Amino acid sequence: MIQSKGKNKHDLSRYIRTDVKEQIRKDAGFGCVFCGCVLVEYEHIEPEFNDALEHDPTKMTILCPMCHDKVTKKILSKNHVWAAKENPKGLEQGYVNDMLFSKADELEFLLGNMRTSNMGIAISLYGKPLFWFEESVNEEEAYTICCIFYGKDSSPIAYINRNEYIALVKNQDIVSVGARLTISDKTNGCILEISREGGEPLHIKKLYTQLYGTKLIIKDENSPVLFGGINDSDEKLAGFGSFTLAGQGLESKAVALGGIPSRKVGNKLTVVINSALYGREIINSFGHHKGWLLNGNLINLSGEQVGTIRDRDAYSITGEFVSYYNNGRLVYPYKQYNDGEPIFVPTNCQKGHSIRVQQGHDLSYRFFGF
Ligand SMILES: [Zn+2]
Repeated sequence: MIQSKGKNKHDLSRYIRTDVKEQIRKDAGFGCVFCGCVLVEYEHIEPEFNDALEHDPTKMTILCPMCHDKVTKKILSKNHVWAAKENPKGLEQGYVNDMLFSKADELEFLLGNMRTSNMGIAISLYGKPLFWFEESVNEEEAYTICCIFYGKDSSPIAYINRNEYIALVKNQDIVSVGARLTISDKTNGCILEISREGGEPLHIKKLYTQLYGTKLIIKDENSPVLFGGINDSDEKLAGFGSFTLAGQGLESKAVALGGIPSRKVGNKLTVVINSALYGREIINSFGHHKGWLLNGNLINLSGEQVGTIRDRDAYSITGEFVSYYNNGRLVYPYKQYNDGEPIFVPTNCQKGHSIRVQQGHDLSYRFFGF
């Protein structure tokens, strides 16, 4: 029997309809059902492609190239695949991930049509770095990349944590093809597209972030970075782009939008006096006095509330968990949170402060600035 190219004996083409692919990805939690890797291939479990009459999502799944190879070599059986399809890794752990990025030797980001060059932090929002570089502990590369991508509901949708891409499994569709990764949702279409091609810097080509009162949008790779209030129409947003911001290295910060969220809790001078009399001093890793803890509130030197302490956990006034409160310090023992979000640790805090680092990394900058 002569088969036409790319078709099986039942004349079924390798082409899989978009809606069928989408269903398969969704059922699998958007990653390899065995390991949660986001770079995947479509697999007919049983019947195999050659015997299949149709692309039936209930009989198909997605596997990464490595796990696919194990199935082909029968190291993993079809029963293993069925079991993994029932209980996919991505849904179990709540995210899918991959090491997408090869080594970074330059401190360069591309954000729409803007380039940051020789800058440690590309963008921070409300005092929290969103895109930054960190010195690598691995000798093979100079730097590693960290990014936090918020979605339209002010909650994170994806991270790059020291070159590891982590996409949180929510209601969005997550697709990884080669060096390009996209996240889309039904209402807004594509809300994140990033790529890293042929030694190029990381390029954020699409972004739709909303955080507290601000939105940050990159429409496409030729678009400036647009920002403004969440209630402003997209046409009214301010933008910056079409240029390169060059800095002096890891300590340089390119764009800082919005200050640290704070709240007035009475006459500022009275609050400062009361804090000084009855509060507990907050000290950073250099021993500098940055603010106070008074009645469970974190108070800055201007007498505004910038956070709350509950059971030794420190929250920003927007309700985000930031660090632990430990004996006048705001510290966290790890460089990431439980869901994989990378934490920016100031370089000067990483070096030569080993005794202080035993307590944890100093995150007081999230409440009081650098
Ligand atoms: Zn896998």
